[in-house]
Amino acid sequence: MTGLPNRTSFSRFVDEVLGEAGSETLLGVMLIDLDRFKQVNDRLGHLAGDQLIQAVAVRLVNCVGACDVVARIGGDEFAICLADRRVSDEFSDAANAILSELRKPFEIIGSSVHVGGSIGIAISPFQGSEKTELLRKADMAMYKAKEDGRNDYRFFTAEMDESIASRRVIEDELRAALRSGEELFVEYQPKLDATGRRIMGLEALVRWGHPTRGKLAPDAFIPVAEECGLIDAVGGWVLAEACRVARQWPGLSMAVNISPVQFRTPDVAHSIRSIVFEAGVKPEQIELEVTESILVGDDDAVTAALKDLRASGFRIALDDFGTGYSSLSYLKKFKVDRIKIDKSFVKRLGHDSEANAIVQAVIALGHAMALSVTAEGVETEEQERLLQIAGCNELQGFLFSKALSEKDLHAFLLETYLPFDGVELARKVRRQVRSGT
Ligand code: C2E
Ligand code: CA
Ligand code: CA
Repeated sequence: MTGLPNRTSFSRFVDEVLGEAGSETLLGVMLIDLDRFKQVNDRLGHLAGDQLIQAVAVRLVNCVGACDVVARIGGDEFAICLADRRVSDEFSDAANAILSELRKPFEIIGSSVHVGGSIGIAISPFQGSEKTELLRKADMAMYKAKEDGRNDYRFFTAEMDESIASRRVIEDELRAALRSGEELFVEYQPKLDATGRRIMGLEALVRWGHPTRGKLAPDAFIPVAEECGLIDAVGGWVLAEACRVARQWPGLSMAVNISPVQFRTPDVAHSIRSIVFEAGVKPEQIELEVTESILVGDDDAVTAALKDLRASGFRIALDDFGTGYSSLSYLKKFKVDRIKIDKSFVKRLGHDSEANAIVQAVIALGHAMALSVTAEGVETEEQERLLQIAGCNELQGFLFSKALSEKDLHAFLLETYLPFDGVELARKVRRQVRSGT
């Protein structure tokens, strides 16, 4: 389709050049992965996807010299062999030139399409003199470029090798943990009403009791689960656990985090519904926390899934509000029930006037749109007071309680929630939190 060599001829070519290379010359293997190609394909169709690939091929060929070779090695992956260079800077210059070409819009069947690319580079002789090794290292560097936010290039570094190795280990261990069902567990953080006195609900937060590394926070393994296709299993397991606990406390709402990656599975709404029904819990008791990143793609399937879930009775909360691309237009388009102000804003409350203004504006905005507003990461009484004045509906944070194991949660709720009300409860909750019991 592009007239470019494929993976096999590319690697043969690299072999040849490596064989002929003089001792002073550098050779670079560059891998390029198009960003957002899938969206173009999904939205405009395969014909448009093909045209885009062809147009990219032309631009790449125009970016390199006569002795260099451009190949197409996968659906939206290209490889370039940059031969006979003298200094490493020549590779960064080439990468910059390519990125700037890829950033310019493509005119495809009457639409202006923006893509961009992620580039990884490995250089011979620095990173080896064997083609398989160079390709593998360029691939890792490309992976890093993507991870760091795409639309950029990365040279291979030795740390990449190590971090990939540890990722593999995490992946294998996580698979085993899911199979045994013994190492993952869920903790529950109470969410209180605006007065900070009444417990309104809980948020389920997953942890991993790792046999050798101890208790791991979700940030240490959720990203790996998202990358290696385990997030549906982890997310489904957490939801089932949270439902089991929710059933014991029908008066409390239960919030569960759903990864943006889970929303890419076509039947996400169906699978969430079945887990909840099977657990014998009403969807009305469950609040699904999603982040803005699921909305950014402007994906019809995501809109439909959210609508479907709301129609079944689930509430939707927009998590980490303010950290991403929050925009009023998203809030209009994707109906949600609640926004959760990110803890980075709450932390700055009382210290800087900008944070105060942002928090007040977000709460006012939420109320104007008939949404409930939760502040997370409330750690001080000063923050609590400012949030109360601003009219925030729900408060969550270490001031009231950290996330508790199932056992501690039961003790906590039985002791504080049931027999007490109002001020009494607040006093007791705080005493317990302070004394660490
Ligand atoms: P999140 O949804 O924003 O969760 C709130 C995080 O803030 C939790 O961290 C919680 O322990 C912490 N936190 C609560 N109160 C305070 C406070 O007063 N001060 C401070 N500094 N932090 C507070 P955690 O448990 O480490 O979770 C981190 C993130 O991992 C979560 O952020 C969520 O995005 C993700 N996560 C947790 N469980 C799951 C899960 O089951 N599935 C998915 N997909 N993601 C999860
Ligand atoms: Ca959350
Ligand atoms: Ca959050």
